[in-house]
Amino acid sequence: MIETTVAGSLPKPSWLAEPEKLWAPWRLEGASLIEGQQDAALAWIKIQEDASIDIVSDGEQFRKHFVHGFLETIEGIDWQRMTTMGIRDNRYDADVPTVTSELRRPGSVHGDGARFCRERTNNKLKVTLPGPMTICDTIADAHYGSRPEMAMAFAALLNDEAKELEAIGVDVIQFDEPAFNAFMSEVGEWGVEALHRATQGLTCKTAVHICYGYGIKANIDWKGSLGTEWRQYEAFFPALNASRIDQVSLECANSRVPLTLLGLLKDKEVLVGAIDVATDEIETPEQVAATLRAALEFVDPERMVACTNCGMAPLARPVAEGKLKALGKGAALLRKELGHA
Ligand code: ZN
Repeated sequence: MIETTVAGSLPKPSWLAEPEKLWAPWRLEGASLIEGQQDAALAWIKIQEDASIDIVSDGEQFRKHFVHGFLETIEGIDWQRMTTMGIRDNRYDADVPTVTSELRRPGSVHGDGARFCRERTNNKLKVTLPGPMTICDTIADAHYGSRPEMAMAFAALLNDEAKELEAIGVDVIQFDEPAFNAFMSEVGEWGVEALHRATQGLTCKTAVHICYGYGIKANIDWKGSLGTEWRQYEAFFPALNASRIDQVSLECANSRVPLTLLGLLKDKEVLVGAIDVATDEIETPEQVAATLRAALEFVDPERMVACTNCGMAPLARPVAEGKLKALGKGAALLRKELGHA
């Protein structure tokens, strides 16, 4: 009861990529890069295990960017044809590659990394993939002509990848959909349908992570404009609750999402974000337990997983380590309180 996990990314070691920088270029190449990624993943598996994280992740050590990491080997994308696009409903501009012909996945993307981790931990293992809607909001389209159509094409490729990860022994496959709260009405129109296509035929746990983004300036400014209550999730939680996805991950620590909205997810397991990734201040176990306890009013303990708010990639490594330990200890405090020590 009240297992612990991470949303996804963890900081890269300084010898692998420049620290405290999102999407920093690799400092190694070729075979040395692969060896470096493996060593980094191994270090984080150990740190997560020591911090009593039940469902561990590779910390996304094998990819530079949470969306482009999957797209890098996909055919049909022109990386020379970069388009400047206002993403997350024009919250900020990004230079993105362009889809110029039919999409094809020539082979496994994250299989080798997942297999490496599977062989080195007895804990449950989670792998994250970008969600179809978020991919479509992070790439320009010069071929499909409609976002839902392009999303379904990506979802088919994600499904092939997910099935392969499941066969390797991955326990939880999570799709990251931060674009959901920028395109609330489209979640019900085609976002969930695309997730269903991506998870078709899977028997492992499936999750969707939604959030208000990393602690970068554009997101902090945007959050400042949202008022005292963030109610975006209200628009699409009913569609998620009716979906076939098992788990929903969202931020609760220091967030202005009213906890009552968790009541809309009564048929789901909820990954309650109890670690704020937008501050270097390390939570105490008591603070973590308090965040989880507050969520208990709307989420039964059997359906609750303690998690981080979002990826921890931009944090300094000691800060991320401290936060993981606090998460493990905070969840243990609450389990003890509930008589499940
Ligand atoms: Zn996130």
